[in-house]
Amino acid sequence: MSKVLGIDLGGTRLRIGMVDEAGGMHHHKVVPSSVLKENGDFVGDLIHFLGEYFEESGEKPEAMAFGIPSAIYKDEKTAFYSPNLKSPQGKVLLDHTNIADPVAEAFGVPVWVGKDTNYILVYDREVMGLQDADVIVAGYIGTGYGGAIMVNGEFVLGKNGIGEEIGHVPFWHGDALCGCGKRGCAEAYASGVVLKEIREKYFPETDISEMFTKHAKEQVLQEFVYAAALPFAMMGNLLAPDAYVAGGGVIEMKDFPREDFKRYIRENISRAVVENGLDIRFSEVNQEKGVLGSAMYARQKLAKLG
Ligand SMILES: [Zn+2]
Repeated sequence: MSKVLGIDLGGTRLRIGMVDEAGGMHHHKVVPSSVLKENGDFVGDLIHFLGEYFEESGEKPEAMAFGIPSAIYKDEKTAFYSPNLKSPQGKVLLDHTNIADPVAEAFGVPVWVGKDTNYILVYDREVMGLQDADVIVAGYIGTGYGGAIMVNGEFVLGKNGIGEEIGHVPFWHGDALCGCGKRGCAEAYASGVVLKEIREKYFPETDISEMFTKHAKEQVLQEFVYAAALPFAMMGNLLAPDAYVAGGGVIEMKDFPREDFKRYIRENISRAVVENGLDIRFSEVNQEKGVLGSAMYARQKLAKLG
């Protein structure tokens, strides 16, 4: 049975697997992302890692897609810039780096590179049965706040592909410093990094996994949830999406206050949009969805190649 390869590269873990035509996962593997960071040569390390992986699994895929936490150019090959991926010496590993061509050349199969959150939306759209939705807006809050926007089955990539940054919409008079270097972004108020800071400052006795279970109604966490909801409200006002998809490690945490989150979205969207119906969905907890989404994307692109 023909297989395609999906990779989901996160800040700490790299997940990889081959997916068959029926959606079955094979040779699934999770390794520390540091395997691609140690030598300061991301593409060289990736080719080396894949070579070993194929040897181990005893087969090669027909195509590959890599989901990466970075803006990706429209060519679906080149990573724009990823401040999240650095070598131990602090060198930024992806800076206008063509990943796809050298990998395709090394293994003789087509390769696509995309933003991690786009590929997760490919998965969510499929499992949520949203294939016919005209407009889908997705926000995934993990370490940072990533987004994906799909219109008529295509991502809204923007000029050169550098768009969909719903986590970096500005908050009025916001001055908190964001990981991107700007001040006042949504991500500077709602992200895994911020949640950790809140824990350290206000609830040092609480395990991070219990933050919402124990403190969801406290003002500081209500403000966090409000900040998480606002980008969805902004996108709602702009696009009146058929569906909103919310996910990522923070939103998928136990007892995340979904009803408050939905209420904050609803309260900040114009009445006309609200009256047309807000379809807000939550992404399921599934550690493999990044790999599955990447593989689904590879298969879609492969089908288009004919
Ligand atoms: Zn920012």
